Amino acid sequence: MRDNERLFEPNDVQNRSLIDKYLQARDRIWRFSSKIEDHYIAHTARIKLRPSLIGFGVCLLLFNLGVFWDNYVKPEILYFALAIRIIGVTIPCLCVGWLLFFWKNYRLHDWLLSASMLLIACAINSLALMREAPANHKAFLVSLLLIVCNIILQLRTLPAVFTSVGISAITTAFMWPVLTTTSPGYWQAVSYMYITAVITLLANTRLDSTMRRLYLMMLKDQIRHDEISRENEELSAFSYTDPLTGIANRRRMEQALRTAWTGAEANGSPLALLLIDIDHFKRFNDTYGHPAGDACLQLVARTIAGQVRHMTDLTARMGGEEFAVLMPGADENVAELIASRIHSALVNAQAGQTHSVTASIGIASCTPQEGSTIEELVSSADKALYMAKNGGRNQTVMAA
Ligand code: GH3
Ligand code: MG
Ligand code: MG
Repeated sequence: MRDNERLFEPNDVQNRSLIDKYLQARDRIWRFSSKIEDHYIAHTARIKLRPSLIGFGVCLLLFNLGVFWDNYVKPEILYFALAIRIIGVTIPCLCVGWLLFFWKNYRLHDWLLSASMLLIACAINSLALMREAPANHKAFLVSLLLIVCNIILQLRTLPAVFTSVGISAITTAFMWPVLTTTSPGYWQAVSYMYITAVITLLANTRLDSTMRRLYLMMLKDQIRHDEISRENEELSAFSYTDPLTGIANRRRMEQALRTAWTGAEANGSPLALLLIDIDHFKRFNDTYGHPAGDACLQLVARTIAGQVRHMTDLTARMGGEEFAVLMPGADENVAELIASRIHSALVNAQAGQTHSVTASIGIASCTPQEGSTIEELVSSADKALYMAKNGGRNQTVMAA
């Protein structure tokens, strides 16, 4: 799962209230519900990957530099030491690094690191045994390993506890013969190691708790952000729609006109505007009533919108019983064809009705040039519409 994938659907109330519950909880959160936990693991694994790989690489390098110490203290073990460090540890750890990078099963990432840490613990103890290193020296090296595992690599709580217990057990097992036979100095060294394990584990769980809280806040932020964008979309759709007919309103048309004008200007392409006004609509209203008038406006809107290409053209109600169609890329011929289709479609749509309306259409078309304006185009279409009305209505006039 990718961490930037949306975790919840907007209406996933159950998980959203879970997030609130987790955030309000005073106690630390050890685990989320399984869906959130999966997402959390994937999310943190991706965040931790780079620093983990760098930390892992640096530790591996330091571990390998120890070969100089092996050679200095006991030159005769050099080849054994090299074999343990390179073949026994470095090569398997490089494979783990490669897997961490490419394997998307994030749940297993920490367990892979855990296995590497246990391997390194075995190697440190074997090498110390070969060098006959003092107990304090061993305890110091193993404590460093615990710091790497619990703080630098920040393993999740369960793998961290498992690894710390494992490292301590391996070291105790290696030191067991001396622990049972000789002075309390060895016990002291081992107890330093246990104390380090406990303290670094405490630090580890605190880090995990903080990460979990930050993650919840991020989720909450993401949900809020989604809600706001959805509300914005709804609001903008609302503010650009005519409530009676459901088609675009005047504001939307004015915006589309500006966009289309700029596009046509840049491409040198034509642009056509149809202004459509229902004939004698006041009379229609007075005769059949306002509700019938509303139904008629809805029918006319549907009919006009049905005659244009939805991908490119825009039909809008400009107010009252006046509509407009904007057709980017259309020249006079196309515009005239659409106008005649609208006249016929209106007749067909009202066929069989006892009361029907006609419409007058004014067309203006131009290719925007320097000096020409949107206002001139609208005004030309308006004048053409006026002429259509004067010419007896139910007709189309093309602006000169
Ligand atoms: P003309 O042919 O010259 O355009 O005459 P007309 O009667 O259509 O024009 P006029 O501008 O005189 O009247 C427009 C009418 O449209 C007046 C108003 O009652 C009606 N009208 C405007 N908006 C609505 C509406 O939302 N619903 C209804 N039912 N009628 C509306
Ligand atoms: Mg009218
Ligand atoms: Mg009118």
